[in-house]
Amino acid sequence: MLELINYDGMTDCHGITGNSVTRMHIHFYLLDDLLIDTGSSRLGRISSTFFSRHKIRYAALTHVHEDHSGMAYWLTQKLGIPVFLHEGDHSEAVSPQRLPLYRNVVWGNRRPFYPAAMPPRISTDRYDLDVIPAPGHSPNHVVYHEKSKGWLFTGDLYIATKQNVSFYTENTLQAIASIRHLLTLDWETIFCAHSGIKHNGKEKLRLKLDFFETIQKQVEDLRDKGLSLAEINRYLFPKKDFWELVSRGEWSSFRLISTAAK
Ligand SMILES: [Zn+2]
Repeated sequence: MLELINYDGMTDCHGITGNSVTRMHIHFYLLDDLLIDTGSSRLGRISSTFFSRHKIRYAALTHVHEDHSGMAYWLTQKLGIPVFLHEGDHSEAVSPQRLPLYRNVVWGNRRPFYPAAMPPRISTDRYDLDVIPAPGHSPNHVVYHEKSKGWLFTGDLYIATKQNVSFYTENTLQAIASIRHLLTLDWETIFCAHSGIKHNGKEKLRLKLDFFETIQKQVEDLRDKGLSLAEINRYLFPKKDFWELVSRGEWSSFRLISTAAK
């Protein structure tokens, strides 16, 4: 089921994938005729009905991961809708993807698609969105800033104020730099691709920055005491996270701490 939530004139589309153990929330957003992210292919049966019934002129992705781009092929091929994507992710988008089993179960595969070049700004009748590069979760991740509304569409940059593991594309130092920059801009509300709409979003993103900076400081202090990154990882995260085991290391605390060190 796709839950549609009207928020100040735009639509927050909320779906759930996975089973009782791997249950995951996905949000994508429709602003006038602009779709931000497409959801995963596991939601395809219900999201394609939604896409067909609404006038969509463009789709804009925050990054190429399959839970955001899973329906990009369908939108470009069936509806002829251009899908904007950061140029750095284009070669991955056109390539067939061989997903590990857990990602196939939770999100479903992403078929290759031909993305359109990302413009610096995207406008609809009522909204103007600045495209802001925000590497951290992945190298070519972007966020969309609707300044007059105080909205920030953060893709996977935020998700929660803390995390025990990072995906293999994540870089803690890059995330710190991106978040510091975003906190200097004028906005208040986060539109996250997994945790939905977050009021006091700036405060929440500041807490995420605090978390990353604390990790960075702990890693640097322990390294100065002579500990290796592997030893620091065991010290800070003695217990393996569920997702680290399920993903066979695609998600890991080692990635979180090793990319926090200068
Ligand atoms: Zn992602």
